[in-house]
Amino acid sequence: MLLALEEARLALDHEPPDVPVGAVLFDREGRLLARGRNRREERGDPTAHAEIEVLRDAARERGHWRLDGTILYVTLEPCAMCAGALVNARVDTLVFGAWDKRFGAVETIYELCTDPRLNHRLDVRAGVLEEPCRVLLQDFFRARRGKNGRGKKKKQQQQQPSEEQT
Ligand SMILES: [Zn+2]
Repeated sequence: MLLALEEARLALDHEPPDVPVGAVLFDREGRLLARGRNRREERGDPTAHAEIEVLRDAARERGHWRLDGTILYVTLEPCAMCAGALVNARVDTLVFGAWDKRFGAVETIYELCTDPRLNHRLDVRAGVLEEPCRVLLQDFFRARRGKNGRGKKKKQQQQQPSEEQT
């Protein structure tokens, strides 16, 4: 998760910065297969979330879409798109840091990774290094609100640690 946090911080290195979310994928033997970060702004691509970047790189490397025997670490609870991609890629285990109150599709809003109706389910470990993952996002949104001026967003939205898809 420390590596995923390192990746997340890299998302801040360009202008406009991306929401700092990072992910890394390991195989069963503990080898690092791919690392990635949210690049939605950098690439102008709505699907360029950290998890998707990592799955794409690892599948390219492996030469196959099927990524069984892998464990994905990501700093923020995956959204519906990414949770769906993790199921489709047959990833074994998901470890995430902060919960996403608005878009979380693993425990918060949906439970896509453990839904018994789907043909693949993941082992999920939630809240690993939750605090640094959450604080990184909170600091980012606080700084962005400061820059954009207050009052542009509804107050209740400002309370949320993640506004990744807004
Ligand atoms: Zn996502």
